[in-house]
Amino acid sequence: MEASLCKSKGVIKLFNRFFPDECADSAYKIDYEGLYTQGYRGLLFDIDNTLVPHGAPADQKAVALFKRLKEIGFRCCFISNNQKERVASFNQPIQVSFIENAHKPSVKNYRKAMERLGTSQDTTIFIGDQLFTDIYGAKKAGIRNILVKPIHPKEEIQIVLKRYLEKIVLHFYYKEEGIS
Ligand SMILES: [Mg+2]
Repeated sequence: MEASLCKSKGVIKLFNRFFPDECADSAYKIDYEGLYTQGYRGLLFDIDNTLVPHGAPADQKAVALFKRLKEIGFRCCFISNNQKERVASFNQPIQVSFIENAHKPSVKNYRKAMERLGTSQDTTIFIGDQLFTDIYGAKKAGIRNILVKPIHPKEEIQIVLKRYLEKIVLHFYYKEEGIS
């Protein structure tokens, strides 16, 4: 095996703890009906940059999505690292469960969310936009996960730095998956 290939395999091994199970362009473009048919019953969502731009209230699109998810038969819970005031007001027109100040990637609140919904690792899906918090935490908790593209490209500096690191990890993920 060539040295460069060995090196690349090593990096993939190092990074694959952050690799999402799946990717989607948007939380609004996921086949939720299909997931329900597969037996999934609980959906855990990040909020900021997954469903709306960072700090934005729930818009019509978000409200309509959760109305549809409830009609399909899903139980939903938001898991956000943001504070209670922000998460509660986002949830006001939606009315599902939520956990604020969740300290993702700590697995504690992923488990708490499943307990609340009465679902298990086998029947729950997590959807979020960040690798090192959302996806890493879901993987540690043993929950199937979907990485979505962040809604708003303009972000705070600490998130911009994380995005740079995410790009490096995703480069190896796409390589491993044969996407590029
Ligand atoms: Mg987010």
